[in-house]
Amino acid sequence: MNLSIADNLKHVQAQIEMACRAAGRPVGRVRLLAVSKTWGPEAVRAAHAAGQTAFGENYIQEAVDKITALQDLPLEWHCIGPIQSNKTRLVAEHFDWVHSIDRLKIAQRLSEQRPAHLPPLQVCIQVNVDGGETKSGVSPQELPALAQAVAALPRLQLRGLMTIPEPAETDEQMRAVHRQAKQLSEALRQQGLPLDTLSMGMSADLAAAIAEGSTMVRVGTAIFGKR
Ligand SMILES: *Cc1c(COP(=O)(O)O)cnc(C)c1O
Repeated sequence: MNLSIADNLKHVQAQIEMACRAAGRPVGRVRLLAVSKTWGPEAVRAAHAAGQTAFGENYIQEAVDKITALQDLPLEWHCIGPIQSNKTRLVAEHFDWVHSIDRLKIAQRLSEQRPAHLPPLQVCIQVNVDGGETKSGVSPQELPALAQAVAALPRLQLRGLMTIPEPAETDEQMRAVHRQAKQLSEALRQQGLPLDTLSMGMSADLAAAIAEGSTMVRVGTAIFGKR
């Protein structure tokens, strides 16, 4: 077993607990998504042996090879990277979750291609809260219409929002982005969408994201090492 991965996981879990306590939130309401992109099946096996079950991947073909190699384990796979139209079938057939929905066309294809024997694909809409030029994600203005349309698709279950803040100068700037994501999520809930997931917070902004209501943090390097 890979001891450093087990130790790293313990350390990240402790950070999450500490951030929950500091924020006055119940420990156990924030899930850890272990981002295993670029790492092979053995690293995922080591993390699973240490108790981790949810894994995040960016590159579809790489992920499908890994998922296939690890079919003997009860793992939950999350797609967190951009999806081209020609990759939707692979995603619909192999993943449990998608965090990076930002176009209706992709969501429609995923819904059409989700195999009947699998539960609905669990999805989050990626929102570009701070207007970063280089990122994907729907704008806050376009979010309500996209959310209603995605929620109506039969083979998808809309669970919440995902955001990737630009690196900011200060903690307060980061927190402002997280807070805005939380507010957007609350506004959608008031429109009747039963959202329960806020996928936000990575190594650098984990505590700030948890303070503002994150329910899922995505951590790669701190668990598996430098890519
Ligand atoms: C790679 C990635 C992460 C994890 O980043 P680390 O710096 O390795 O912790 C989280 N979220 C997304 C969307 C990513 O692409």
